[in-house]
Amino acid sequence: MKFLRKDLDESDPRALPEMLIETLSQLDGDSIVLAPGEIPIFSTPGIEILGILRDERIQSPELLATIRVVRRTHNQQVGKIEIPRGPIGVGKHELTVKVLPLTKDDLVLVLVSDESEAQRVHDVRRDFVANISHELKTPIGALSLLSEAVLGAKDDPESVVKFATRMQSEAKRLTDLVQEIINLSRVQDSDPLQLAQAVGVEYVIREAIDQCQILADNRNITVTYSESSPATVLGDRDQLIMAIHNLIENAINYSPESTKVSITTQLENGVIDISITDQGIGIPEVEKERIFERFYRVDPARSRQTGGTGLGLSIVKHVASKHGGEVKIWSVENVGSTFSLRLPVYNKPMEGTE
Ligand code: ADP
Repeated sequence: MKFLRKDLDESDPRALPEMLIETLSQLDGDSIVLAPGEIPIFSTPGIEILGILRDERIQSPELLATIRVVRRTHNQQVGKIEIPRGPIGVGKHELTVKVLPLTKDDLVLVLVSDESEAQRVHDVRRDFVANISHELKTPIGALSLLSEAVLGAKDDPESVVKFATRMQSEAKRLTDLVQEIINLSRVQDSDPLQLAQAVGVEYVIREAIDQCQILADNRNITVTYSESSPATVLGDRDQLIMAIHNLIENAINYSPESTKVSITTQLENGVIDISITDQGIGIPEVEKERIFERFYRVDPARSRQTGGTGLGLSIVKHVASKHGGEVKIWSVENVGSTFSLRLPVYNKPMEGTE
C-alpha cells in the first residue's frame, strides 16, 4: 500500500525510481518524499494516519522548519516533533524524524519513527508493575488465610463450606484483576492508529450493551440506546468496545436497582460524542479527576462488592487518548452521572490514496 502522486508519470523528473519506493515501503517506520515547495510525491500510509500530512500539506511547523534547514544546508537533520492525535483531547504522538537531502532534483526524504513511544511504554510498565504487586497481594493473602481456615475447620462441614465459598469469590476477584491488567497493558502497548480500521460507532455500542445485558438484568436496570448520529471512527474495534463496555458496566454497578442507563450519540464538528447516563450514586466533585487513576476507587468497599478492579476508567481514558479523543464527566451526587467518550470521526481518504 503506497501513495504516489498520480500526476507524475515515469517521464516526470520528480518521479521516484521503483527501487527507492520499494525500499521505503519495506522500512519499519514511515517515510515521505517531498519535492520543492514541500509537495509530497511519495508517502507510506502511516504518514496520513499519524496526521503528519493532511490535504497534501505537512502539518507540523517543527518538521517544516527542519526541512528548510536541510534544503539550505544539504545536511541531514534529526529532531523530535509532536503531532496531536486528534482535534480534541491531549493525546499526542511524539515522533523522531530524520530529514535527508536526496540528490535527485532537490527531493527531501523524511523518515519517521516512534521511539519516544517506546520509552514511555517502558516507564508506564515500571510504575504499573509496582501497583499490580500491591493489588495482587490482597486476594492472594486472603486465599492463603482461607485455606488455613479450611484446614483448621476440617471437622466442621459448615465452616468448610463458608470458607470455601469465600475462597471462590477471592479466586474470581483474582481472575478479574488479572484480566483487567492484561486488558490495560494491551491498550497501553498497542497503538490503535497504526493498525487502524474504520469502525462503526453503532456497532461497537451494540456489542458493548450485549456484553453487559446479564449484569443489567440481574439488577433490573434497563439499558436504552437509540442511534441518532451514525458515524465511523478510525481505530481498534475491540478496544472501543472495551471502553464503552466499561462505562456501561460502571453505570450499572454504581446505580440503585430498577433504574435506567441511557446511551446517546451526538455528532458535532467532526466529533462523535457517545454519552452513557445513569441515575446512580454520582461522584463527588473532588474525586472527578482521580477516578481515572489506576486502582483508584471512591469507595473501595463498594467497588470490591461489585467486583471492581479500579482499572476500568484508566482503560477508558487510554483508549480515548490513543484514538485522538477524550472522556468528559458530568455528575451530581445521588442524582447520577454522564460519562462522554468523544472521538474524532473518520472521513474517507481522499482520492489518490489506497
Ligand atoms: P472499578 O473497577 O472500581 O469500577 P473504575 O476505574 O471503573 O474502577 O472506576 C473508578 C471509580 O470511579 C469507581 O470505583 C467508582 O468509585 C467511580 N465510578 C466510576 N463510574 C461511576 C459511575 N457511573 N457512578 C459513580 N461512580 C463511578
